[in-house]
Amino acid sequence: MANDYNFNTNCLHAGYEPKNGEPRVLPIVQSTTFKYESTKEMGQLFDLEKEGYFYTRLQNPTNDAVAAKIAALEGGVGAVLTSSGQAASFYSIFNIASSGDHIIASTKLYGGTFNLFSVTMKKLGFHFTFIDPNASLEEINAAFKPNTKAVFGETLANPTLEIFDIEKFAKAAHDNGVPLIVDNTFPTPVNCRPFEFGADIVMHSTTKYLDGHATSVGGVIVDSGNFNWEQNDKFLGLTTPDDSYHGITYTKEFGKGAYITKMTTQLMRDLGSVPSPHNSFLLNLGLETLFLRVERHCQNALEAAKYLSNNSKISKVSYPSLPEDDFYELSKKYMPKGTCGVISFCLKGGYDAAVKFSDNLSLISIATHVADCRSCLLHPASTTHRQLTEEQLLNAGISPGLVRLSVGIEDIKDILFDIEQALRKV
Ligand SMILES: *Cc1c(COP(=O)(O)O)cnc(C)c1O
Repeated sequence: MANDYNFNTNCLHAGYEPKNGEPRVLPIVQSTTFKYESTKEMGQLFDLEKEGYFYTRLQNPTNDAVAAKIAALEGGVGAVLTSSGQAASFYSIFNIASSGDHIIASTKLYGGTFNLFSVTMKKLGFHFTFIDPNASLEEINAAFKPNTKAVFGETLANPTLEIFDIEKFAKAAHDNGVPLIVDNTFPTPVNCRPFEFGADIVMHSTTKYLDGHATSVGGVIVDSGNFNWEQNDKFLGLTTPDDSYHGITYTKEFGKGAYITKMTTQLMRDLGSVPSPHNSFLLNLGLETLFLRVERHCQNALEAAKYLSNNSKISKVSYPSLPEDDFYELSKKYMPKGTCGVISFCLKGGYDAAVKFSDNLSLISIATHVADCRSCLLHPASTTHRQLTEEQLLNAGISPGLVRLSVGIEDIKDILFDIEQALRKV
């Protein structure tokens, strides 16, 4: 099994092992459907008695190979690809909770996730309690209710770059009989493997570093296989017969594969947020060099963060790999090899200085994105958060002079030269 190889080798080889005479590169199976010789065989597939492909909304060989690779990289037992990171966040919870249930989530989340939870899922009848990741174990424990079904956090928050204390939240979740789900998009499994610290489910926006070339929007959910769904009667969808699937009981039939199998057979069947096999092929190309790219992103970002923190026109640099950063100690524990390529910093000259700086960059492009191999930058106050008043901006922790820089893998000398020439014009 490719799983026995080391991490870097798995980036190249896990999930797809060609047999004699088969294509060396993972083929794109761009087909919605699959042909069979008899109705009997097809019937066995529908009853989940036999393994095989019949319709790409449920399963596709290209998608499955890439999911298996990511499962190997995270150290999980199985994974499902989704059409976006947003779909992955929704599925990760909806697979084990329903209308009327309660979820505990970190306050330090990607804006899209916060909106999904606090507006859209709220409309669907889910209740969320948002809790500061710096809360004590007692405060976290006090947030649980009889109908709490999961705890959700971001290992390295986008865009605040705060680190989530996985062990603390895993303990609270497990003491209360629910799983911990984490979004591991920013550190990637190169820098952090949340299952080793007690997380039960990991999800990603693969749009970011896993793809890494800004070609494809996508997501993934990985199950550690460690959570015991049968320990209480909170997860009846997994532990009692599914009437919509011939009365199958997922935990009985599939053991450690229960969570992922239910997600495929139920959520993909009914909601269908499936990626195109072509996008999965592109994602796989990105994964092949993940370990090389992430290392260079982190080296470059640390250099850029050091440069910026010594510049007189900059007031504050947030980058958890800097020794003076508030999250340096947690970064040493959870991400000792590095954090990510994203830095945020403030221009002393405020809004106008940040706009002038951004507009004068030449190599670094202005883009609503992070984690691309090409450096890019965003000024939240004039773009993503432009509808907010100055007071609302400050409440959201976004000062008018704040910029978010996603450091790419170009030569660091060219990146620093571009930052330096643009700062001179401010
Ligand atoms: C981008 C992002 C998402 C959403 O992913 P999409 O692929 O854009 O749908 C979720 N979480 C984090 C941390 C992200 O950066």
